[in-house]
Amino acid sequence: MKPFRLKLSTKFILFNSVILAIALITTVAFVRHFEGNDTHFLFSILVAIGLLFILIMYRFYQKVLVHPLDILMNNIQYIQARAFGELQGINSHDELEEISQHMDTLAKSVQAKEKELKYIAEHDSLTNLYNRYYFNHIINEKIVTIPEGYYLALIFIDVDEFKTINDTLGHDFGDHLLIEISKRLSELVGTHGNLSRIGGDEFMIILSKISAYDKVYSFVHRLHALFDEPFIIDKRYMKITISSGVVLSNECTQSVTTLYKEADIALYKSKEQGKNRFTFYKEEFMHQLHVRNNILNGLKESIDNGCDEFFLLYQPKISTHDGKSINGVEALIRWKNRKLGIVSPDEFIGIAEESGVIIELGYWIIQEACMDFLALQRNNVDVKQMSINISAIQFTHKDFLTKVQTIIQKLGIDPASIEFELTERIIAHDDTDMLSTLNALRGLGIHIAIDDFGTGYSSLSYLSKLPVNRLKIDKSFVKDIDKPNSINIAQTAIVPLAKAFGLLTTAEGVETKEEYEVLRNMGVDDIQGYYFAKPMRLEQLESYYLTLGT
Ligand code: C2E
Ligand code: CA
Ligand code: CA
Repeated sequence: MKPFRLKLSTKFILFNSVILAIALITTVAFVRHFEGNDTHFLFSILVAIGLLFILIMYRFYQKVLVHPLDILMNNIQYIQARAFGELQGINSHDELEEISQHMDTLAKSVQAKEKELKYIAEHDSLTNLYNRYYFNHIINEKIVTIPEGYYLALIFIDVDEFKTINDTLGHDFGDHLLIEISKRLSELVGTHGNLSRIGGDEFMIILSKISAYDKVYSFVHRLHALFDEPFIIDKRYMKITISSGVVLSNECTQSVTTLYKEADIALYKSKEQGKNRFTFYKEEFMHQLHVRNNILNGLKESIDNGCDEFFLLYQPKISTHDGKSINGVEALIRWKNRKLGIVSPDEFIGIAEESGVIIELGYWIIQEACMDFLALQRNNVDVKQMSINISAIQFTHKDFLTKVQTIIQKLGIDPASIEFELTERIIAHDDTDMLSTLNALRGLGIHIAIDDFGTGYSSLSYLSKLPVNRLKIDKSFVKDIDKPNSINIAQTAIVPLAKAFGLLTTAEGVETKEEYEVLRNMGVDDIQGYYFAKPMRLEQLESYYLTLGT
């Protein structure tokens, strides 16, 4: 039922009419009563009655108008101050009550909208976990309140190979997977800490009030064990792994940025060491990062300057058939930086690969090696082939084939005199793109060698099915090969097997005459190593060739 309402104007008209009527009636009654008598007394009574009316009117306006307006004004201020709980109602059964009710509804909807906006601002829309912005705020709060004797742990998580999953199975699949991951993580974290998706496939967990290192350790173990079970997404089984970096702090003054950075460095270490693992941050990592950055900056600078600080050395591969002809040389890069001095390839190649600068540098190497090979030919140095190391990242780069073709055409070099050395790790993947690049290279006439053979775990029968020409038997296989008791079946079987599959063989890292003899007797085609020669400059190679007297 609609509540009984009176308009304010009606109220005033009614009230004023009543007052006026009473005043009139009273005046008429008094005038009649005192007609001709005591007019002075009559006047005093009328004044008293007038004052009484003014008082009554004051009370009336106070109750009907002033007080409700005060409440409304206060309510407006409460709404402005977002103190929605303080709002007061008005029971005046008139427009003011209506206004106050509208105000209340409006305030409630503002409150609900604000709540919704706050949720959106603080959460990630895909997983409903806290976003980076709000997580920062949580960490800030936790840092300043670390209790004496306790630690805070920040765990930075990254899903291994997520980009590949996204690229091959689609973004919807990737999104679905992220949601499922966040569910598992949320279950583990529960009330022990806070969880956030800080972007892409990266999550962070903060645990506060940690009393001992062991607790974080066992937590991180459980965290990684969450991924033992595969996920079932769109009826497809999906086994994934994560890498994580953990940092502990007990300093209330620690900055969030530093914590993030340290967790990030620890995560990077996990990735660097082969992923699917966790790493606790150590101070020495920061130093290593500085070294790495110096190397990377130096690499970029030199590459920008036309690779002016790099040069190539060549290490001969000597034929076992006569012990002196040079079947080929392997180009090995060297770098002398103006600030860092000589930096070995083992130190900078990995950094060049991770950062992608190897792609640019790699083309320079191919071009330089080919030009040097042509120079050897012009100087009648009989070297049959030039072997060039190719990094995985360069090999899989989209422009690789075209660039190689361009270099070959530009220099007019015979492709059959070029051999690319690819590590077992690159070609052990059963990948159609990889296979088509290999076939295209073979189609051009370029030879392919499998480098560092024996360090991976792929079978020779699998590798022999790929379009490759040569196996380079790794140093670790050659070591102690001349000691009768230490030689194993793999070492004896490798050369006959390679031959059976139609592959040539080169043994690398041969340092002694004894090793050389054993390998030659085994039937290895070429020998490379300090026993014959260390990597050398092009000019030295020319004189070395003359000393061989072939
Ligand atoms: P790798 O391709 O396996 O090269 C053979 C390494 O063994 C070379 O080290 C060589 O100097 C060294 N070596 C040769 N004979 C012997 C020996 O008798 N005993 C011992 N202990 N070592 C020997 P280097 O030049 O320091 O290169 C290290 C690695 O860096 C190479 O291993 C290769 O993976 C990479 N690298 C070198 N140059 C290039 C390049 O031009 N491009 C790419 N992508 N990687 C390169
Ligand atoms: Ca090599
Ligand atoms: Ca090698």
